[in-house]
Amino acid sequence: MPEDAGSYRYSAVMMGSPILLKLFQPDETLARRVFQLIKQLENLLTVNRSPSQVMAINQAAGRHAVSVSLPVYQLIKLAREASLIPGGCFNFAIGPLVKRWKIGFQGHSVPPADDIARLLPLINPRDIELDDATQSVFLRHVGMEIDLGAIAKGWIADRVQDYLRQQGVDQALINLGGNVQTLGSPPHAHRWNWRVGLQKPFASRETLIGTIDVAAMSVVTSGVYERFFLLNGHHYHHILDPATGYPLDNELLSVTVVSRRSVDGDIFTTLLYGMGIGRGCQMLQGYTDIEAVFVTRDLRVICSSRRLFDFTLTDKQYRMAS
Ligand code: ADP
Ligand code: MG
Ligand code: MG
Repeated sequence: MPEDAGSYRYSAVMMGSPILLKLFQPDETLARRVFQLIKQLENLLTVNRSPSQVMAINQAAGRHAVSVSLPVYQLIKLAREASLIPGGCFNFAIGPLVKRWKIGFQGHSVPPADDIARLLPLINPRDIELDDATQSVFLRHVGMEIDLGAIAKGWIADRVQDYLRQQGVDQALINLGGNVQTLGSPPHAHRWNWRVGLQKPFASRETLIGTIDVAAMSVVTSGVYERFFLLNGHHYHHILDPATGYPLDNELLSVTVVSRRSVDGDIFTTLLYGMGIGRGCQMLQGYTDIEAVFVTRDLRVICSSRRLFDFTLTDKQYRMAS
């Protein structure tokens, strides 16, 4: 990879994923601080371990509002707005269903249809009340739970980028397992400074379909092959359709979004996954700084447009389509 020349790699396993920080000067201390920052931010947002601010909100559902720190409040506000986009399937009130399915965790199962029907009324984002004056969040009904799993990594990637800038770093790459954020231009840069691999669905992490070349941008992939289980020939994966309560079922295997902010990449991967290719590409025409690459079950690769990146197909089984 072009940017690998003269790079220093630091890695860790966090948020259930391998994390990579690439710098262009050796700096063990900085890398340690970055990993600490990721840990701290994850602790604010997790829904699996107490005491996080998000867990405090969930535990007070139906009872009282909980005030949170400004950054967490702002993220929740952004998540609520994204959850109200018509036709999208991003919904951060999805918590009760995520907990019931447990996809990607011990004890996953297909819930009885009755359970799903009972939980669906608890995932309405309009039942999440925000109050700017007190920076507080109130879930109207007992049993409601917010889940920031789809945007936590993107938000953290953006905070890491801010931190690196503050530290005077002007070239770096951070990969939070599915969320890549790039900063500045590496040495020997040309127009496309960074090369990010597009992972081949259901293959090992290192196996690629092709490569995405970008200038300093975020590249986020959300795939149905990341966390799933198989039962009676069905493939149950971790992106749920808020309309049905079941995993989203369409022709897509993965959606990759190129954007400036990684948190936008996160929101759009989930939105676009639900919209599908046609409506998704139409929607993207309204955004000049967000583009997508779709990979389908019948082995096609479709790019929304290619102003922000260049794509090179390397896998012979797949073909480019429009
Ligand atoms: P990861 O990057 O960890 O693979 P994704 O970015 O693909 O995760 O998002 C999947 C996670 O988002 C799920 O594990 C769940 O916590 C949450 N989630 C599932 N369905 C939705 C949805 N429709 N809207 C918002 N969040 C969702
Ligand atoms: Mg993600
Ligand atoms: Mg993902």
